[in-house]
Amino acid sequence: MQNSPVSKLILDGREFLIKRDDLIDPFLAGNKYRKLYTLLQTPKENYDTIISYGGTQSNAMLAIAAMCKQKGWQFFYYTKVLSHTQKSQQEGNYFQALSLGMQHNELEEVHYKDFVAALRLNLDEKSYIIDQGGADTSVRKGMEVLAHEIREANLDIDAVATPSGTGTSALYLALALPEYKVYTAPSVGDSIYLKRQMSALEPLPQNLIILEPKKKYHFAKPYLEFLEIYKRLLNAGIAFDLLYAPLLWQSLLEQTQEKILYVHSGGVSGNASMLRRYEKKALI
Ligand SMILES: *Cc1c(COP(=O)(O)O)cnc(C)c1O
Repeated sequence: MQNSPVSKLILDGREFLIKRDDLIDPFLAGNKYRKLYTLLQTPKENYDTIISYGGTQSNAMLAIAAMCKQKGWQFFYYTKVLSHTQKSQQEGNYFQALSLGMQHNELEEVHYKDFVAALRLNLDEKSYIIDQGGADTSVRKGMEVLAHEIREANLDIDAVATPSGTGTSALYLALALPEYKVYTAPSVGDSIYLKRQMSALEPLPQNLIILEPKKKYHFAKPYLEFLEIYKRLLNAGIAFDLLYAPLLWQSLLEQTQEKILYVHSGGVSGNASMLRRYEKKALI
């Protein structure tokens, strides 16, 4: 793999650099590519089956499906029961993942937790489980490769930024880049939740800075201000995802002033279905 390119973006008269991890692959891109790096480097013969679970709009699910297709591994994905509408959609991450060969299994709500907890008990050596969100210490290696690419590019920057769900990506990026401040913002839950998630993996490094949003947002809900920032970024030349990126961009514009390299976390494949929800709410 070549290093992902760096683009310039001007927003509100301010210059940002963007590490274009979104361009790595149509489906296996962004931080999910970095998070799956260790598995991608693993010889095909080591596994025959990957198992994971979670939501059906998940970017991780789509990236794992693309990886398994590349590797010739089976991919079993467990979710709670889906509605008929969700199943019949002809676009979006779920549709794409199925077309890449993902085998989807629905679990009744009452059995879901126990089933997921028991997955590891019946595992043979050719199978590998990826936990929801890919919150795993094996992410370290992929983020070290990213940090190496950033150093190699010799950029004129003061800080780096990338959004957080579980915080796994931002945490390992900060650990791999101690010479820079690494900004992030909690797109899922609040900063207390985010710190707890991160601390479960590693002690929090000094250079990791969690920006505090001015208002409480619920994950994956449509907000007019998120749509507006998405559109401004799009007009400036780059599409970002609608779930994670808007909150970090908002926080960076309001609370920072340095020259920042924003590491694009991918996820634009989910935008079509999210934009439809904005339309339904008559926000577009
Ligand atoms: C998964 C994802 C994130 C969150 O990554 P974490 O490592 O869980 O913090 C951020 N942005 C996009 C586009 C994602 O798909």
